[in-house]
Amino acid sequence: MIDTVVRVEARTPAGRAACPGCKCWSRRIHGSYLRFPRDLPTAGKFVVVSLRVRRFVCEEESCERMTFAEQVPGLTRRFGRRTERLRSMLVSVGLALAGRAAPG
Ligand SMILES: [Zn+2]
Repeated sequence: MIDTVVRVEARTPAGRAACPGCKCWSRRIHGSYLRFPRDLPTAGKFVVVSLRVRRFVCEEESCERMTFAEQVPGLTRRFGRRTERLRSMLVSVGLALAGRAAPG
């Protein structure tokens, strides 16, 4: 039975990102949005992940892309498929909370 919701918020610390089209670096942030990957039940807890992803403006005039969303290596690219890193992080969170909530 799921009786607890664990909310995990994540964002990237980098102030720039590389355009996937032209590989040029950009620091011009266009905006950001939240992604909510599939909820993961972990150790009996219900885990909700919100990941803030930023959109950058590509400053290379010859590039076809006007804006692009940053990629978080090993995370956003395959977020929907639950990377090992994400899963192990969530398991750690779930186990820590489960241990704290244990009676006795
Ligand atoms: Zn570009």
